[in-house]
Amino acid sequence: MSYEAVIGLEIHSELKTKTKIFCGCATAFGAEQNTHVCPVCLGLPGVLPVVNKRVVEFAIKAGLALNCHINKFSKFDRKNYYYPDLPKNFQTSQYDLPIAEHGYVDIEVGGETKRIRITRIHMEEDAGKLVHSGNTIKDSDSSDVDYNRTGVPLIEIVSEPDMHTPEEARAYMEKVKSILEYIDVSNCRMEEGNLRADVNVSLRQKGTEKLGTKTEMKNLNSFKMVEAALAYEIERQEDVLEDGGKIVQETRTWDDAKGKTLSMRSKEEAQDYRYMPEPDLVPIIITDEEIEKYRAGLPELPDALQKRLMEEWQLSAYDAGFITSSRAMADYFAAVMAAEKLSPKLVVNWLMGDLSKQLNAENITLAESPVDAKRLAKMLALLEKGTISSKIGKQLFAEMWKNPAEPMDIVKEKGWIQITDTKEIEQIIDAVIAANPKPVADYQAGNKKSIGFLVGQVMKMSKGKANPALANKLLAQKLE
Ligand code: ADP
Ligand code: MG
Ligand code: ZN
Repeated sequence: MSYEAVIGLEIHSELKTKTKIFCGCATAFGAEQNTHVCPVCLGLPGVLPVVNKRVVEFAIKAGLALNCHINKFSKFDRKNYYYPDLPKNFQTSQYDLPIAEHGYVDIEVGGETKRIRITRIHMEEDAGKLVHSGNTIKDSDSSDVDYNRTGVPLIEIVSEPDMHTPEEARAYMEKVKSILEYIDVSNCRMEEGNLRADVNVSLRQKGTEKLGTKTEMKNLNSFKMVEAALAYEIERQEDVLEDGGKIVQETRTWDDAKGKTLSMRSKEEAQDYRYMPEPDLVPIIITDEEIEKYRAGLPELPDALQKRLMEEWQLSAYDAGFITSSRAMADYFAAVMAAEKLSPKLVVNWLMGDLSKQLNAENITLAESPVDAKRLAKMLALLEKGTISSKIGKQLFAEMWKNPAEPMDIVKEKGWIQITDTKEIEQIIDAVIAANPKPVADYQAGNKKSIGFLVGQVMKMSKGKANPALANKLLAQKLE
């Protein structure tokens, strides 16, 4: 039988306010355990929460940037459950009247644009963190509980089940992340858990409408994990159905080391949470004027910037999409283009190629790159002027990664200036011809392809410094 996967994401994003959602404690990441706590976020008896205005502002901005309708009347509710990381025994969240609803984002996958609808966005508080003595809860003798994260503001962005492949889910999450970065409401540092997704997936027979039973994998905090967990889970469900079995509605964990999902617990229903209106907080009333003020204050968003880059620099949708995939990359590109007069396509190729490769290899961000936009621009200018060959360009970039000197100083010091002097290249060619009688004879016997090998030898003998086009031309002249 052939199945179609149906996928919906619940993305949690921590908001980058200085203080928590209902008290004045700091939200800063990485502090010593239980140092950013107070009676309010510890849920001691008799305390009263006060809503952080910034949280509401950031949630509205996120709602507008994600094309949502902002609810002018919205309220908080209590979601009741017990867990050691939740000192109040309820999470203050929003239930039936969330701050924003009915939005969408457009994603591009395989050259096609697809619209993914957003059901709702609500505000809530984060829970604390259990720190296990072992690797997992199962192999730990004890666990500490750290309440620093308790009460850190979150928005939860719930999508409609509009995605059908792991790739689409990834593209959706990347798009949401980049939008939240552009509007500057979240740090989106996934490795710190700023942005994480609960991933829901079910299968149905191709061509049918009715949704199948879904499973959910919680707290995936990298794009790779989202894709891998979905790919695994889709296959697992397929196997169960093929064998005539039934999918059990449950929460499963993704074990990244083992590369598989494991059953965790059966899924609770909304009624299990005994939602009730939060009696300690007044409803949130937002005026049209406020909404319009926030709308007017939104920066240019990735889709609009992508279009502008395509027009301004004649970039393909793919290239412009790469540049706008993160605000950091867009800013870096803009800084390179402002520093020197360069071909935009050349710049894109280097950002996509060597620069991204190095950043990934060392697992660092653009902001931490030892080669900043200005230096890269100077290096690319040397390439475009022909001061260095493209082969040397690669060596120069690798050297700049370790060496903070100016590109031209490195080139001079290393003697990397491209040889464009005809005489000098001809001398090298003579030596290559003398040393390679067989390929020379092949060429003269009609096998024109062997010139490639000979040009390679010229480049090698010149340590990459000969101008390849010139070497090719001169070599052909000599051989004829
Ligand atoms: P729950 O009550 O289990 O949290 P929701 O209806 O709130 O379920 O949906 C949670 C997420 O799961 C949403 O992103 C939604 O699009 C997605 N979802 C709901 N039903 C399905 C399904 N049958 N298959 C895949 N995803 C689903
Ligand atoms: Mg839900
Ligand atoms: Zn506090």
